[in-house]
Amino acid sequence: MTPLEIHQFPYDIDDNYGVLLHAPDTGETACIDCGITQTYFEALAEKGWQLSHLFITHHHFDHVNGVLDLKAETGCEVIGPSYKAAGTIQGIDRYVKDGERFAFAGHEVQVLHTPGHTMDLLCYYLPGPGLIFVGDTLFAMGCGKAFEGTPQMIWESLKKLHALPPDTLIYCSHEYTQENAAFALSVDPENSDLQQRSREVDALRAQDKPTVPFTLATELATNPFLRANDAGIRRQLGMQTAAEVDVFVKIRELRG
Ligand code: ZN
Ligand code: FE
Repeated sequence: MTPLEIHQFPYDIDDNYGVLLHAPDTGETACIDCGITQTYFEALAEKGWQLSHLFITHHHFDHVNGVLDLKAETGCEVIGPSYKAAGTIQGIDRYVKDGERFAFAGHEVQVLHTPGHTMDLLCYYLPGPGLIFVGDTLFAMGCGKAFEGTPQMIWESLKKLHALPPDTLIYCSHEYTQENAAFALSVDPENSDLQQRSREVDALRAQDKPTVPFTLATELATNPFLRANDAGIRRQLGMQTAAEVDVFVKIRELRG
């Protein structure tokens, strides 16, 4: 099987990223979410790819606003969450839930339900190439805000990502990395991996380059939301003997 090709592009609702996933051997192309139809059309035209599938992560406007137009224009199959949330998503052809698997161009896709930010939030994991599309579940050195669920729920959701192979490549939906790095340093100031990454991120952003995707291993070393067990963070917060979930909740609270 020929490797999948990936094309990531920014779109300007809230520093969003869209992604196209293309299988050269079958010609199939999937995209993750669609906030602005025009940007997705341009990305497809630029690559010369025909859209066949659309995977939706959650109901927020910046992720689904363009879904119906994109579907009408391309006839793509829309796959999205079967979970109830504070908003509904129009145009879904196939509803999926946690643990479900389906094939995209011969590649297995696993659905992970990661509620908290919203109650319908899904991640799409491709164990073959080792890729995951996480929407607003996790960001580089950050995680989504608990708009609908509780921080405790997000903690449970992040455990599912924690369990993936460390070399998994993570695509998240927003370029929030620089502000996340600044916050991460405030709770984990002695972490030299974090200091180093923060400098790398500044250099990338100074050249207007994306900081997404990134590996799970990088997150495990630098993302405070995945490091509630870290002695340095615990010392910084005065929570040396607290339960991991309580340290996480405290970090989520401090982040605002
Ligand atoms: Zn969102
Ligand atoms: Fe978002």
